[in-house]
Amino acid sequence: MNMMNVDPAICNYCGACVGSCPVNCMFLDETIVRIDEDKCIKCGFCIRACPVGAISADWWSE
Ligand code: SF4
Ligand code: SF4
Repeated sequence: MNMMNVDPAICNYCGACVGSCPVNCMFLDETIVRIDEDKCIKCGFCIRACPVGAISADWWSE
């Protein structure tokens, strides 16, 4: 089940989210950011790190 989403219409492929992830479960693929949600610890760092607000998650609230 995919609980996190990176909106490809908003993402500018900057890589900030990938660098922010403490468990290295984010990857820059050809044209999109992919997240290994089995490894994700739901810290929210990537969501905060994204300068354009492209990442959302159903478990996240500010
Ligand atoms: S919520 Fe945390 S662990 Fe999960 S992908 Fe984002 S930075 Fe990585
Ligand atoms: S930080 Fe945001 S804009 Fe940058 S690659 Fe990640 S999802 Fe895309």
